[in-house]
Amino acid sequence: MSQSYFGSCLCGTNKFEVIGDFNSFYLCHCSYCQKDTGSFHGANLFSMDAQLKWHSAFDCVKIFNLPDTRHTKAFCTECGSALPYTMNETVVVTPAGALDSKFDMKPNAHLFCKSRNQWDNNLELLPKFDTFPE
Ligand SMILES: [Zn+2]
Ligand SMILES: [Zn+2]
Repeated sequence: MSQSYFGSCLCGTNKFEVIGDFNSFYLCHCSYCQKDTGSFHGANLFSMDAQLKWHSAFDCVKIFNLPDTRHTKAFCTECGSALPYTMNETVVVTPAGALDSKFDMKPNAHLFCKSRNQWDNNLELLPKFDTFPE
């Protein structure tokens, strides 16, 4: 019996299921991932032997392939949220933040650290608030 993980986009138009296991979890600091996420790194789970199944009423997923690179971004055409896609017809790439199901995998590595921002270091040392600061 395979494990199933469920996820969705911010507006809820797209719902998906990843049937199988996650094999690796990478935080990618490359310049493409910085643009694509608007944040300082991508956080993607890779499944070598999983199946991606959509449970949406409408097809509102756009796949963008950055020309002359291997960089791909799948996103909701309504709300822009990152969504999973299948790479090379076999590898399912799932943005970690798109998942609604809990998963206990920890990231395996930081990638493309040479592109990392100089402020993107020791971030766990910053003050922490449960919501907006008072
Ligand atoms: Zn959406
Ligand atoms: Zn990247």
